[in-house]
Amino acid sequence: MKILDNIRFVLVGTTHPGNIGAAARAMKTMGLSNLHLVEPKIYPSAEATARASGADDVLAKAVVHDSLDAAIAGCQQVYGMSARLRHLPVPVVNPREAVEKIQQASDETNIAIVFGREHSGLSNEELDRCLHLINIPANPVYSSLNLAAAVQVLAYELKMSFDPTIEIGRIGEDREAIDSEDLEHLYNHFEQSLTTIGFLDPEKPRNLIRRLRRLFNRADLDRNELQILHGILRAAETKQQDKGGE
Ligand code: SAH
Repeated sequence: MKILDNIRFVLVGTTHPGNIGAAARAMKTMGLSNLHLVEPKIYPSAEATARASGADDVLAKAVVHDSLDAAIAGCQQVYGMSARLRHLPVPVVNPREAVEKIQQASDETNIAIVFGREHSGLSNEELDRCLHLINIPANPVYSSLNLAAAVQVLAYELKMSFDPTIEIGRIGEDREAIDSEDLEHLYNHFEQSLTTIGFLDPEKPRNLIRRLRRLFNRADLDRNELQILHGILRAAETKQQDKGGE
């Protein structure tokens, strides 16, 4: 993943500081953090910080430049993001194709992906600086994404290409297995508590426990779930005993 650190996102002439914050957030969600700003209209700004949400670290280390040249200095590969396809003698690729090219770059290659202004995109002179144009194939009659949305699409494609692993969240990750002894203990507890609360008549058990066995055998219980069921049974027994004591 070293190469992700060599990729910078360059926002040129951004008008709305909120978009800068949202772009920082979009980048951080995908593990990118090199944000460069060329002549932002209003920056720094409370709105940018607010929209960055938890990505204010990316914002805090964003580098502000007074020209595109300065922002892409030292980059061997410069890609320009363009919503409008002008007839320019520059190859146009979609984000996935662009990421394939980036994948092939060596670890030492510095890469810049350049995004234009909200209203007017990138100028022809700025596009001249780009080796490739990247176009997000969108609705032909409404093809201009919000700036931060375009940043998100690119960042996601990079993430998917470099590390598509899904991180499983807390639920499910620490399922502790139980054994048949634990299950027998549970079924005994059911038998005893359901009798105590009057749901099971030991004289006429009518296969109730057998059915419950089938149900819980299907459920692939883990230790946590087992403890919840024991807890419910204990609470029901206590309620019954309290009632009996009144
Ligand atoms: N009205 C502008 C679009 C500005 S959107 C224009 O017509 O050029 C702001 C920036 O988001 C664009 O400059 C571009 O870098 C990026 N962007 C938005 N939609 C895009 C798309 N479909 N493909 C590639 N880049 C896009």
